[in-house]
Amino acid sequence: MIIVDAYAGRKVAVIGFGKSGLSVVRSLAAGGADVTLWDDKESRRNDAAAAGVTARELFPDAFRDMAALVLSPGVPLTHPAPHPAVVSARAAGVPVIGDIELFARSKGDARVVGVTGTNGKSTTTTLIGHLLKELGAEVAVGGNLGTPALDLPPLSADGVYVLELSSYQLDLTESLKLDVAICLNLSTDHLDRHGDMPGYIAAKKRVFRNQDSKCTAVVGCDDPDTRRICDELTRASAMRVVGIASTAQVANGVFAKDGMVCDSTTSASASIALDGVRSLLGSHNWQNAAAAVAAVRALGYSFAAIAPKLRTFAGLAHRMELIATIDGVCYVNDSKATNADATARALASFERIYWIVGGLPKAGGITSLTQYFDKIAHAFLIGTAAPEFAATLGGATPHTIVGTLDRALEAAHQQCKLDRRENAVVLLSPACASFDQFANFEARGDRFRALVKSMAAAPGARPQRCVA
Ligand code: ADP
Repeated sequence: MIIVDAYAGRKVAVIGFGKSGLSVVRSLAAGGADVTLWDDKESRRNDAAAAGVTARELFPDAFRDMAALVLSPGVPLTHPAPHPAVVSARAAGVPVIGDIELFARSKGDARVVGVTGTNGKSTTTTLIGHLLKELGAEVAVGGNLGTPALDLPPLSADGVYVLELSSYQLDLTESLKLDVAICLNLSTDHLDRHGDMPGYIAAKKRVFRNQDSKCTAVVGCDDPDTRRICDELTRASAMRVVGIASTAQVANGVFAKDGMVCDSTTSASASIALDGVRSLLGSHNWQNAAAAVAAVRALGYSFAAIAPKLRTFAGLAHRMELIATIDGVCYVNDSKATNADATARALASFERIYWIVGGLPKAGGITSLTQYFDKIAHAFLIGTAAPEFAATLGGATPHTIVGTLDRALEAAHQQCKLDRRENAVVLLSPACASFDQFANFEARGDRFRALVKSMAAAPGARPQRCVA
């Protein structure tokens, strides 16, 4: 735990008792603050009581002598409307901050890498952590992913924190100065919480706040919004700027064109081939790899030292996770693909696809994926979305409404046996939320993994080792 002692003997209000709220309460209390916690949900207040923390409602008067209001990232700061406690705090002149701000003030001298962007944050954060660990660094990984920042261990001045940072967290952070700040990409997301696209972009740009000439900004060049940010930062020249890309070469940057990671920040012409790295399939993952290499280079490691470590990255569960190869067919769990945009990345990465798709549909369904339909050998439709998706697939793309994931996998397995096609992939990439049939995307992916593993263990199956 990182102890926050900046508020010793002073009153601090905390709103929201999720994973990060608990870490905030503990770190502030350990540092001697007088903490008042509130959560609008009764179930969370009960969780707090079970953890020994009594929740007390924060009426406007309570803010007269508060030193700070710490908001959980899930609590609205501005949109659709500020939480009433934010209004009260502002009226009383009380600063409104988040857990990352407390981390920034209390982390000591260790260096910090921060990763943001619309997609790929978790993969890139985990990959940077993997590379640094393999290179022998003292490293702790967390933030919006896994362990909350304040629950990470204290590190020495030689250590490196690698944090995934959401736009909500960045909105609540003032003084964080990242040694390496990354913004991977930007596309429309979370407009309900940021009002509009400019509001969302402004929140993401805060990742580069406070950086100076000793710091590095790693910025995507694959989409127009991040490219513009890259140009702006380069012109302002407050920090060193490294562009990254997966679709084109960049001068003075790191790019991963055609699956080869290349570094144009030095005159030495070296490259790393990603085509054999199963955990980094697809051009979106090349973007993540380019960003991770740029970040670790900025921390002082050589391209040659990084190269072999990149190849040993195991990848993250539920993101194009290769579970098994049975009778020559790959079984891939992409349960994290809860919208059509994420599924597009998976469909673009394979050729002959037995596609398990459906769940609770998002607006627009799978209409944006028609360009990939000729790669679909057969689609197996599950959940609430099944009739809608059947209509979108139409007469030209073979499909069956099977209802459940268990039936879909069995049907896909049988169809592969019948078809006996080369390079076949059974792909769970639902383009939907899971809540109609599962607790969350993890439960859906875990079920898929368990079913595939029992299939691979069945008598007569010919599983091959999952090799790159
Ligand atoms: P995040 O933490 O930003 O949600 P993840 O690394 O968990 O990102 O990946 C979520 C999904 O987004 C993956 O299943 C993948 O399909 C897609 N994805 C991953 N990296 C990228 C990227 N760089 N660009 C676009 N999509 C990506």
